[in-house]
Amino acid sequence: MLPVVDARPCPDPAHALPRVRREDVGEREWLDWRWQLRHMLTTADELAAVVNLSAAEREGLAVSRHLFRTGLTPYYADLMDRDDPACPVRMQAIPRAAELEIRGEELRDPLGEDHHRPAPCVVHKYPDRALFLVVDRCAIYCRHCNRRRLVGGDDPPTRDELEAGLAYLRRTRRIRDVLLSGGDPLLLSTPRLDELLGKLRAIPHLETIRIGTRIPVVCPMRIDDELVAALRRHHPLFVNTHFNHAKELTAEARAGCERLVDAGVPVGNQTVLLRGINSSVRSLRALFRGLLRMRVKPYYLFQGDTVIGTDHLRTPVDAAIELYAGLRGWMNGMAVPHLVIDAPGGGGKLPIGPTYLVERRPDAVVVRTYRGDLVEYPEARAGDCAVAYDRVFFAGVPDDDDREGSAEVGEAGGVGAIDPPGAPAPAPSGAPGPAEPAGRS
Ligand code: SF4
Repeated sequence: MLPVVDARPCPDPAHALPRVRREDVGEREWLDWRWQLRHMLTTADELAAVVNLSAAEREGLAVSRHLFRTGLTPYYADLMDRDDPACPVRMQAIPRAAELEIRGEELRDPLGEDHHRPAPCVVHKYPDRALFLVVDRCAIYCRHCNRRRLVGGDDPPTRDELEAGLAYLRRTRRIRDVLLSGGDPLLLSTPRLDELLGKLRAIPHLETIRIGTRIPVVCPMRIDDELVAALRRHHPLFVNTHFNHAKELTAEARAGCERLVDAGVPVGNQTVLLRGINSSVRSLRALFRGLLRMRVKPYYLFQGDTVIGTDHLRTPVDAAIELYAGLRGWMNGMAVPHLVIDAPGGGGKLPIGPTYLVERRPDAVVVRTYRGDLVEYPEARAGDCAVAYDRVFFAGVPDDDDREGSAEVGEAGGVGAIDPPGAPAPAPSGAPGPAEPAGRS
């Protein structure tokens, strides 16, 4: 079994009514990420020690065990508004009973990943990149998680499964980029993560390694000197994190991100557009400007995926486009992420947004500016765009292998297939299923 940080409930009987508020804990404990993970809040009683739970939250907590685990670090809980249940931190972490309302078109596997599993821990959908699912736990269980079918289990990947994943990545030479995900890869112990990254870095055709993690948001103290020293051994390495609201941009989060950036690790951010949480122009601008100040590049703004039990958190597409029109042009372009729909069934990330091209003519196009003015852009006269020097520069270099991911293992869809494409969600059942790792973060 893979060694992950011990995040079991604290066996200390004093933890029955937990000391999890910042003011009740010494600074040394509070800044110890292992303490944070050992003291994750998972029950209504524990949450009630931190906030005044509303009736809707209590109801959500009562039913959520049938849907998706609850859990968050004391650090993240400390960001909650004690009295207002509309707090964006509360809404991301504390379940509501609306999660029980599952629509027919909602999916357990909205991104069609389970059909592209050539090895137990690998998702290979796109031609030149793959997901490596190295752990199945998180430091928060987000109510909008698109892989709620998979995270929070008690059956993390085994060493044999990880070795099988590494073997697939080694023999599939068209994979240039691997994204470590899960669950949260930064929940692996630093030596184990270092070992895994070393094995990946030893694969000659892997050009870049990425890590998807929500640790900078929910447990930034995890980004300590030991971790940073380990990461910088494996460049080029990138981190993608997942801030959703400016309330999450604390001094600690900033320090964690800056430690990564100072070590030469570029940090990008993926935000999920969440109705009532960040679905206002003011909220998105504050988030993206704040990220840029922390040297974190806003990368994607996702429409919510059609995952079971999350309809109440999704934003209508028209509303998303209108919000986006309030970003592009109104703020530094580096702070503006791509607004995308991750197509159900695995079609990939598709950019959406306002229409700026309003008319096409042979001699010109008419475009609309961010302020709504119409401007004519004259067309170029010549249309042949071939690059003559390509013949020289790429002499002897084979064309990209653009086959769909995991084509090498045949048309069977790899191993671990669960739903046929577009399969409707099953009825909710018991506690979160064990086993297969996952996560947007
Ligand atoms: S995988 Fe990412 S989005 Fe899902 S619960 Fe974990 S941290 Fe949240």
